[in-house]
Amino acid sequence: MTDQTTESLDFRGEQYQGTTSVVPAKSQNESGALAPEEGSSQTPAPRARVQAMMEYHPPLGCRDALRLDFNENTVACSPKVREVLGRISAGSLTRYPEREPVEAIVAAHLGLAPAQLALTNGVDEAIHVLFEAFLEDGDELLLPVPTYTMYEIYASATDARVVAVQAADDLRFPFERLLAAITPRTKIVAIANPNSPSGSAATRAQLLEIAERAPHAVLLVDEAYFHFHGETVINLVGKVPNLIVARTFSKAYGLAGLRLGLLAGPVELIRWVRRVLSPYSVNSLALACLPPALEDAAYLDWYVSEVLAARAEFESALDQAGVRRWPSCANFVLVEIGARHKGFTRLMSAAGVLVRDRSSDPGCDGRIRITIGMREQMRQAAVALNETLAALRIEGGAQ
Ligand code: PMP
Repeated sequence: MTDQTTESLDFRGEQYQGTTSVVPAKSQNESGALAPEEGSSQTPAPRARVQAMMEYHPPLGCRDALRLDFNENTVACSPKVREVLGRISAGSLTRYPEREPVEAIVAAHLGLAPAQLALTNGVDEAIHVLFEAFLEDGDELLLPVPTYTMYEIYASATDARVVAVQAADDLRFPFERLLAAITPRTKIVAIANPNSPSGSAATRAQLLEIAERAPHAVLLVDEAYFHFHGETVINLVGKVPNLIVARTFSKAYGLAGLRLGLLAGPVELIRWVRRVLSPYSVNSLALACLPPALEDAAYLDWYVSEVLAARAEFESALDQAGVRRWPSCANFVLVEIGARHKGFTRLMSAAGVLVRDRSSDPGCDGRIRITIGMREQMRQAAVALNETLAALRIEGGAQ
């Protein structure tokens, strides 16, 4: 991605004047935020559905610590990706991104035809556009819960109804009850596989049966954590007429900041998704990084095997500490902390380890999700965990 013509211009010359603020001083407060204008309560109202939506503010601030809170890669992306990023010219950024050639490369990598794949601005955009394309009044979105929060949020912006099937206390995939909840109105069944925050997984046979029993619905299998599980249904894309698989580059690949995801499905379904998807939503830096990320299989293998080794070690540390945990097929583990979950999260953070309190997820009160990183990082996390548990016991007596 170089653009010699533009790159050779000298922007420090007279043409370039820097930026000028056009915000009148009187309307700015100390932090630079604009004060609301007089009469702003008269602003137009959005759709009733949007007014009823909850605001969602994931705790993304102040994260200069060991980040075991968002299931990201805890180290870095492949050095080959870094190299490509470093070579991107200023001139090339003046162009709109062209996604098709990169879509063809990603499709070939996954053994798919280019028309079976759409790149998206993270899986979040993939979910958003899929729901936008398929869900309307009278439809049902069927979800096993607890699961990834954004399914419900994007569904709540549509006129469809969410049908949530609660997992039992073991948090295993509630297969039989999910089957029983399929109705003629079911339009999408969304299954994160492996699921978050539980770490549990559905089997290929179970997913196939759901696809068969709901032929009138799209079965979305969100394989965000595929690399840590190793099982996939992406090879069924195009063979099962209602199956769509989502993948992200935010987890094992370590590119969460670039926002890269994809949907893979039968040409007929992907075509509808493309009607809603912006042709510009995947930016050119992200597109440039995809081919080297895919090529560097050695990096991916190294990262995944390190996480799997760290997970086994950390699970032993949890067992030794007497902390209940759920079996995990992903790069995180859900643990039971109980009534003092807020204090636990706060003390862990004070010890430099960020973890995610999932207490507000259905059936998850007192449960904390801890991302698995490198072995060294998880040893540090285990020390913080033991100290925090000891401090909580001293503060508040037996659990
Ligand atoms: N799906 C699942 C199951 C997830 O847990 C996450 C991220 N936490 C996503 C999708 C979002 O992925 P992306 O960063 O590609 O939007």
